[in-house]
Amino acid sequence: DSKRFGGKVTLVTGGAGNIGLATAQRLAASGSAIALLDLAGDKLDEAVRTVAAAGVTARGYGCDVTDAAGVQAVVDRVAADFGQIDFLFNNAGYQGAFAPVQDYPVEDFARVMTINVCGAFHVLRAVSRHMVARKFGRIVNTASMAGVGGPPNMAAYGASKFAIIGLTQTASKDLAPYNIRVNAISPAFMGPGFMWDRQVELQARVGSQYFSTDPKVVAEQMINSVPMRRYGDIKEIPGVVEFLLGDDSSYMTGVNLPIAGG
Ligand code: NAD
Repeated sequence: DSKRFGGKVTLVTGGAGNIGLATAQRLAASGSAIALLDLAGDKLDEAVRTVAAAGVTARGYGCDVTDAAGVQAVVDRVAADFGQIDFLFNNAGYQGAFAPVQDYPVEDFARVMTINVCGAFHVLRAVSRHMVARKFGRIVNTASMAGVGGPPNMAAYGASKFAIIGLTQTASKDLAPYNIRVNAISPAFMGPGFMWDRQVELQARVGSQYFSTDPKVVAEQMINSVPMRRYGDIKEIPGVVEFLLGDDSSYMTGVNLPIAGG
């Protein structure tokens, strides 16, 4: 059934970004109305137009997830505008700096934790209040394989994604009594594009024992660490999110699904 999510409302954070937008498009194609939350700007406006092209109601909400009060206000507005929030794809995130832990910039560590952990918590908290009231909700948090095994030179990002997996587990327990399931996805190397180029470039620049100082070689080293010997395509993520939001995963909560090529 191509309209399996007809009548549903999904809130996607980081909705103007690569993974958020691709997932919003997929859920829109399945019939869900879409609220996109991201930092205000042209990128968000354009993403809304892209999603609306699927023929569903789509609206954009400019909001910084680090602002707890702002997030609550925007989430309340989404619930008022759409009448309900059935699904949350809690996905906004920031990769941070690349440096060994002894040199990792203090301000950037705080920034990564504030966006990735506090931000995801603010959204989860605000949305789950509406879901608890309706005794229905499905939530998918975007973690990362960096939150399963801490990669070198990514102290803040790795710690933040371990935290997302922990938050997913606790929230799944707190919200289970209210018919709300909470799961996570963990993409690994995704490409091509900005995130891939940035991590290849920055890992090379660090010059650690783990990666070459030549970005081309770093790319090969990363690919060679993947059993399937390729990076993932962004388009390989939305179907997994849709599975976790829909009834095919009805007995799953608190899990983290790797999307990592093995
Ligand atoms: P992206 O940069 O394209 O998208 C991230 C979005 O989050 C952007 O649109 C950005 O504006 C938004 N955002 C950042 N800070 C925000 C804030 N304070 N408030 C509101 N919005 C904010 O990157 P992406 O690859 O689409 O990443 C999405 C998620 O996937 C992130 O959580 C990221 O950590 C995770 N992830 C990505 C990869 C990858 O290789 N692309 C791998 C594993 C995990």
